[in-house]
Amino acid sequence: MSSVSTAGTAPTTPGTSPGQAAEPAKTEPDAPPAGAFDAAAVYRDLHANPELGFEEHRTSGIAAEHLAAAGFTVATGIGGTGVVGTLDRGDGPVVLLRADMDALPVEEATGLDYASTATTLDASGTSRPLMHACGHDVHTTCLLGAAYSLAADPGWTGRVIAVFQPAEELGRGARAMVADGLFDRFGTPDVVLGQHVAPLPAGVLGVHDGPAFAASDSLRVTLHGKGGHGSRPETTHDPVLMAASFVVRLQSIVSRVIGGSDVAVVSVGSLHAGTAPNIIPDHATLELTVRTFDPAVRETVLATIERYARAEALAAGSDREPTVEPIESFPAVVNDPDACGILRGAFADLPGVMVVDPGVVTGSEDVGILARESGAPCAYWLLGGSDPRHFAGASTIEEVAAVVAGLPSNHSPHFAPVTDPTLRVGVAALTAAARRWLG
Ligand SMILES: [Zn+2]
Ligand SMILES: [Zn+2]
Repeated sequence: MSSVSTAGTAPTTPGTSPGQAAEPAKTEPDAPPAGAFDAAAVYRDLHANPELGFEEHRTSGIAAEHLAAAGFTVATGIGGTGVVGTLDRGDGPVVLLRADMDALPVEEATGLDYASTATTLDASGTSRPLMHACGHDVHTTCLLGAAYSLAADPGWTGRVIAVFQPAEELGRGARAMVADGLFDRFGTPDVVLGQHVAPLPAGVLGVHDGPAFAASDSLRVTLHGKGGHGSRPETTHDPVLMAASFVVRLQSIVSRVIGGSDVAVVSVGSLHAGTAPNIIPDHATLELTVRTFDPAVRETVLATIERYARAEALAAGSDREPTVEPIESFPAVVNDPDACGILRGAFADLPGVMVVDPGVVTGSEDVGILARESGAPCAYWLLGGSDPRHFAGASTIEEVAAVVAGLPSNHSPHFAPVTDPTLRVGVAALTAAARRWLG
């Protein structure tokens, strides 16, 4: 089954936008009964119609429509395009379930019949393709399915807060919702729960205690030199050479500056300088991402980047200090060990599901902000989304890990979670986890 049968009447899926793949007709024998929430159809529709962070107008409309159909009280426009659904059953625990909704500027290459052909115009007016390459369409669909399941279950008390968050990829959506009164208006949760689809086998859930997702800091570094003719470098302070040297020196942070048991990633994702072969430009601009798990390591890495930038300027004889600007920053996701224990208990009861410890992930997630700002423990897990057929013959953890390493990762133009059993397990995991707290 690739669907969730629930009480309540699900709204029909809105039509696709002009120029985008039409929703394939549901003819599978396992199609849900008329009126039930059809997770696969909703997922395919969201996948075909991705929207960037803070532009999730269509997606948030779909989320709001389903939440209302399930019987939730719905508030829209929270922190921009965020949606909050609350379902109150009197005194009892308050459980926050979180899904993110935004997509990425990636040109889809999956070849799926529901692949995105959507585009958007960037700031310069250039058309850019869009894709749900991180699987936030899976998260949105699964949380809607869980909302229907929890609404149909009369056996709990307390409050469910279903949070559909914008702009996770920008690292700003969770903050925007908190700043817009998320906890003041809808209640402070006793636990923050959520999941991220990953290339693990579908049917597998990954739970890791403690720091689970890295803190992320993105920086823009501008090295200022002195421009001039390419034939007369002695009259210049060459920022291209400064940038090249800076990139090489950055590699020593992980190998030489932090301890052997500490973890960090420093990557330069963009480097721009100059306009022509025979002109030495007057500045070079680099954009970096830094991932860490320990606040002290984070401080060391960020301070070292700044020191190295200043050192390059000094070495080149530049009389202008480099500028180091933060682009985005979000904290590590630290899973509460007690909450993870409760999760494992909930997941152990799910048929056909295997729970593994995936270790730490150097990817980042702003769900940690919801936990930190509310003071609630966080339990955030990985949801396997890869076709189990890829793993035929892999019998050890090492063999499974080797297969995962060869599959398209999140943010790849080829990232294509299978709908079944991914959606079914994702809905069941959220529902079962919430029920453990709701009693
Ligand atoms: Zn992502
Ligand atoms: Zn993501």
